[in-house]
Amino acid sequence: MNEDADNSNQLQSNPKTVEEKIKKFLDEKWKSDGCQICGEREFFTFDSVMKITEFSPKAGFVSARQSIPVVPVMCLNCGNLNLFNAILAEVIAPQEPLQGEVK
Ligand SMILES: [Zn+2]
Repeated sequence: MNEDADNSNQLQSNPKTVEEKIKKFLDEKWKSDGCQICGEREFFTFDSVMKITEFSPKAGFVSARQSIPVVPVMCLNCGNLNLFNAILAEVIAPQEPLQGEVK
């Protein structure tokens, strides 16, 4: 993510927001030059954790069963979404409930 290179030095060593945490993770992990679809290099990093929920043909979306917390990073040219696992990226702790989630 070359467009973030100028900002990477400004990030705190202990990032606080979702955006800061995912950018720190991507600075370490993202090795490609640009979007895998169009090759452009401008991305939008969402500052929130979302979740992918299992869909059952009989029960619809089954949020109480399987869900994956993700942070989307979107190519600003073609809209390609990259979804990064928020736990693996250390944006949230494994037991931390998603914001607004009802237990
Ligand atoms: Zn793209």
